[in-house]
Amino acid sequence: MAARVYFTDAHATPKQSRLAKVQALFRKAGFARLIAPGDKVAIKVHWGEPGNVAYLPVPYVRAVVDLVREAGGLPFVTDTNTLYTGLRRNAVQNVQAAAMNGYSLASLGAPVLVADGLVGHDGREVALPGCGIGSARIASGILDADALIALSHVKGHMLFGYGGAIKNLGMGCATPAGKQFLHSDVRPRVDATRCRGDGLCVRRCPVPCIELVARPDRQRGQSAEVARIDGARCIGCGECTATCPHGAIPIRWKTSAEAIQKKTAEYALAAVLDKRAKVGFLNFIVQITPDCDCCDWNEPAIVPDVGFAASLDPVAVDVLSARLVAESPPSPGSKAAAKKGDPWRAAYDIDYRIQFEHAEEIGLGSRDFELVRI
Ligand code: SF4
Ligand code: SF4
Repeated sequence: MAARVYFTDAHATPKQSRLAKVQALFRKAGFARLIAPGDKVAIKVHWGEPGNVAYLPVPYVRAVVDLVREAGGLPFVTDTNTLYTGLRRNAVQNVQAAAMNGYSLASLGAPVLVADGLVGHDGREVALPGCGIGSARIASGILDADALIALSHVKGHMLFGYGGAIKNLGMGCATPAGKQFLHSDVRPRVDATRCRGDGLCVRRCPVPCIELVARPDRQRGQSAEVARIDGARCIGCGECTATCPHGAIPIRWKTSAEAIQKKTAEYALAAVLDKRAKVGFLNFIVQITPDCDCCDWNEPAIVPDVGFAASLDPVAVDVLSARLVAESPPSPGSKAAAKKGDPWRAAYDIDYRIQFEHAEEIGLGSRDFELVRI
């Protein structure tokens, strides 16, 4: 049977607000049936980097929190730590960043938890037999949840072209080491000028293939220890980059749009593999900016607000969301207005459909679906 995607447009009336429409979608899509009494329900969001004002607004999340509780679940609102420098690199700052953007227990009626722990080490390896990557490093808070509702703000991205449910699951549920793996196809290197020889990376390396070696310190006339990676044995897991507190194993942003989309689709599968019948996806096709909410700034939307879509299938809900934007007229003055053709490709000329095709190939969902307008 084809997947079903429920859609409602962005128009509202005094009798039916946008929040009421989102709640109607939740009910129609059968999300309440995913939740058993007492289930710990992860509401996976991206609460945005402070400075960005296009991220998913809190009232939508609150509306879903209330419905999860009504269904008997124990909701918590969650995201993971980032890899790059910013205000979300550890849970202390991440929760503060969430509060700066309005995400708090007081505003949401549910706790705000960082799913991969204090510094992003709280994750587990999920085996993915049959997928190219073999395994994925997923945040424990996602894996340990009984059910998951992914609330995804639909927007563009410099490597994906399009970001929605698949990216929210795949990149958004990865630990920082997992994110490094997704963002790079090259092996890490130690910057000896920054290394302090504390050995933290040596202890975290799963192979292990990092050792401390002596390096003469001419200024002090003595030798100091620095880390050295055996590149032939390194598996490129990214754990050392995520671990080093001194930036001595720098992030290497080297990958292709095709590789990152395929790997992210596989990570998305890993995030939900243990609870396929307990996951719902709600896409917010509003404030559709050309860049990701990880940016601490945002450009004007490429098209006017489109609406909201819900499904039990992350591929189907993304295919519909991408298509509806592609068919929309560009917003005056936006990057999409400056170029003809598909608005998704106005800022970054990337084939964003790779993620949908690969996600379908690996069994994450279906590109065919029945559209139900409500
Ligand atoms: S690379 Fe970083 S974590 Fe590893 S020994 Fe040097 S300073 Fe410590
Ligand atoms: S990327 Fe992973 S395997 Fe390679 S050196 Fe770093 S921690 Fe070790």
